Amino acid sequence: MKEPVGTRGLILNEPFLWERGGKGRTGYSLPRPDVDPAPLPEDLAGDGPDFPDLSEVELVRHYTRLSTWNYGVDSGMYPLGSCTMKYNPKTNERQASLPGFTGAHPLVPSELCQGALELIYELEHSLAHVAGLDAASVQPSAGAQGELAGMLIFAAYHRDQGKARSKILIPDTAHGTNPASAALCGFKAVSVATGPDGVLVPEAVEALMDEDTAGIMVTNPNTLGLFETNIQAIADIVHAKDGLVYADGANLNAVMGVVDFGRAGVDVLHINLHKTFSTPHGGGGPGSGPVCVVKRLEPFLPAPRVVKSGDGYALSEDFPKSIGKLHAFYGNFGIMVRAYSYIRTMGNKLKDVSQHAVLNANYIKEKLKDVYHLPFDVPCMHECVFSDKHQEKYKVTTLDVAKRLIDYGFHPPTIYFPLVVHGAIMIEPTESESRENIDQFIATMRQIAKEAQEDPALLQEAPRNPKVRRMDETQAARKPCLRG
Ligand SMILES: *Cc1c(COP(=O)(O)O)cnc(C)c1O
Repeated sequence: MKEPVGTRGLILNEPFLWERGGKGRTGYSLPRPDVDPAPLPEDLAGDGPDFPDLSEVELVRHYTRLSTWNYGVDSGMYPLGSCTMKYNPKTNERQASLPGFTGAHPLVPSELCQGALELIYELEHSLAHVAGLDAASVQPSAGAQGELAGMLIFAAYHRDQGKARSKILIPDTAHGTNPASAALCGFKAVSVATGPDGVLVPEAVEALMDEDTAGIMVTNPNTLGLFETNIQAIADIVHAKDGLVYADGANLNAVMGVVDFGRAGVDVLHINLHKTFSTPHGGGGPGSGPVCVVKRLEPFLPAPRVVKSGDGYALSEDFPKSIGKLHAFYGNFGIMVRAYSYIRTMGNKLKDVSQHAVLNANYIKEKLKDVYHLPFDVPCMHECVFSDKHQEKYKVTTLDVAKRLIDYGFHPPTIYFPLVVHGAIMIEPTESESRENIDQFIATMRQIAKEAQEDPALLQEAPRNPKVRRMDETQAARKPCLRG
């Protein structure tokens, strides 16, 4: 194996700011005051706040060093299944920081922000087009909020039909946000068991679909990284009882320009711009989860909406059937600019993105399946799911494998999800990684499988190289230290 990419040399210690510096040091120099000093008010007098005394360089080094402890897609491969941690091209950042966008106040009148409104309008149309649906709203600020929008639309549609319905069908492979979103809207989530090949079978849906069921929420491709091949037949079953079909499109990265969700029978779909459309995510930062719909559900989309007329673009509240407002102003605009820039720079190449993402995942699957258990040995989409079954006899678990990857300089994949696979290891390389990086990852995973067999302690005690060793997760949950 080649030299690992992990850091071994300059791993710098970093004390708290209070442990640094010395009395009287300052990080600034102000001009000599030309007025007489006045005493502080009584309640502010005393020793003053407990701020450390530091020079400028001490402060800069402190934060710069801390910033190097962070790991992101700009530092290395981040194969976190389900999350699509792909590279965000820097040109998108550049467009998002254009002063016309960053300085646009959300309360300026429409005639003074035509560019921003046009961007929202064009982005909504492009996203609907990629999905194969008719209209979209970029208001929701995350995938989960897109799901909530979708469920509110389901409820509004059925109310409009004069029939309240109480249940939603959700496959057992679903992301936890799916049943949560349904429950927030007052629906009861009914679990549908996945078939033997890891995908839904129409018979299972047929058995559960009734006139009290508002519809189904299907993640496609699903969280096992498999395409729900029976989606059309399932949609027919649901539609026959006047139900609606929701697609969780968080995995759209696998099927852009390939799958037409409208033709597959999907009525509502959410997209995660912070996954598929190359905008930053993680760390609780702003995201965007646009919701796309077929024509007959367009009246229910969140309002206000950007409309186009002879005079240009305007915001309209004139949608009496709308589910209303989901976000302050119009959503996370900076994220929209990045996604729009990504779509415009990629054009038809969005299809190549998906094809490469799928190719990379299948390559990893084929190269590792002799050493890690592959529960569903079929072609996958943009991610593949292994388990720790082969390592069980050495008392090595998925968690140990994940921690050992850190020693070799890789961010671990998603683990223990989806829940239907015991000890799941879910790998999503994305299209961003080169053949060399992927080969290095494969070699590392194979090395770890070998270590599990020959020296399990290496894994059980991992990670050894980073500053922070393995957390005691039980202690952390039982006795959380919240004061830092
Ligand atoms: C990420 C994800 C979500 C939730 O999206 P957020 O933007 O994190 O709220 C929902 N479903 C699936 C399948 C996902 O991968």
